[in-house]
Amino acid sequence: MILQEGLVNRMEFRDLKKQYLRVKTQVDKNIQMAIDSSSFIGGEMIDSLERSLASYVNSSHCITCANGTDALQIALMVWGIGEGDAVFVPDFTFFSSGEVVAAVGATPVFVDVRRDTYNIDVHSLDEQIQAVIKSQKLIPKAIIAVDLFGQPAEYGELRRIASEYNLYLLEDGAQGFGGSISSKMVGSFGDISTTSFFPAKPLGCYGDGGAIFTDNDEWNEVIRSIKVHGKGSNKYDNVRIGMNSRLDTIQAGVLEAKFPVFVDEELDKVQEIAAKYIEAFGDVVATPIVLPGYRSSWAQYTIQLHDKQIRDGLQKYLKDHDVPSMVYYQKPMHKQKAFLNSSFKYDDDMYSTTNTLCDTVLSLPFSPYINDEDMDLVSTTVKQYILENT
Ligand SMILES: *Cc1c(COP(=O)(O)O)cnc(C)c1O
Repeated sequence: MILQEGLVNRMEFRDLKKQYLRVKTQVDKNIQMAIDSSSFIGGEMIDSLERSLASYVNSSHCITCANGTDALQIALMVWGIGEGDAVFVPDFTFFSSGEVVAAVGATPVFVDVRRDTYNIDVHSLDEQIQAVIKSQKLIPKAIIAVDLFGQPAEYGELRRIASEYNLYLLEDGAQGFGGSISSKMVGSFGDISTTSFFPAKPLGCYGDGGAIFTDNDEWNEVIRSIKVHGKGSNKYDNVRIGMNSRLDTIQAGVLEAKFPVFVDEELDKVQEIAAKYIEAFGDVVATPIVLPGYRSSWAQYTIQLHDKQIRDGLQKYLKDHDVPSMVYYQKPMHKQKAFLNSSFKYDDDMYSTTNTLCDTVLSLPFSPYINDEDMDLVSTTVKQYILENT
């Protein structure tokens, strides 16, 4: 161990080391198998992972790719979305969800979120769609719904709005894999749905990785073409402009090993841990709300404080007590410099909830492997600060 004494036992924000110890035997074996096979791109391990994931999500097709950002971009490319098109995206999310829209030449139209669930607010969505129609500058084409922090977005309502305005529904399930609504799984709610296997996501590999899900046979073929340079009958026959976006076989081996543990143990464990946090915090801070019938995969455990001063003060206090924490997200999408020249002018008044959340949220240490002592330290330190400062 190169780690200094004293750093060894410091609490992790998301404990991937303990998780590795749980899955080590199978992970090591699968990585070795991939190396022994000398098939580093594609091969049986990729095919069998795609079959397992499609069957778990109950989707006709699972297509693995290089990361969750490419997965979203490929979906937009399949639908031919580009210049002059509007795509509706929550204002409170990771940058990728809006980045891909601009990357294909379309315009992201940001939508405010619900304060209690952090997910897209369907009333604001309706308002923004109306605003785009009225301005007659852009054509509404798609909604990207994000399952933020692990909780699925409100797909009943979203499906109704998508049908009403004839929009594609793209599910960004990068943080939601393993979540569900009345046992219908994340990855099955969009016309196309995507996820990410970035190491810190609910189901992570040991590098970058992603997947795309759809029931549409024709789109399945187009997605498989786009991810390999727009291939036709083979990769030297190119029928469209695509990209190079494949999941490494070694990463498929890691995921194959982790997947059964994720399904059989980790998803239950995170429900228990979330419940313990709620009990420990009582009514001292606003803890996350999961809607009735919804299951979160708990990508993040995010509390809300009264204002920015208390949030920032708490984060510093936690740091002084060796408790890691993160602010997801510091900046609303509509305020990102990258979107400054967007052809849709963002009206700051439309984003009051996101503006507030960026000042008041704090994500706490959370993983299926966090122990009672660490959770105790987190909750008592948070409560101590709140009681002393409010
Ligand atoms: C992580 C993430 C992505 C992107 O996934 P990568 O695999 O890192 O490219 C997209 N959307 C959301 C909401 C994410 O959290």
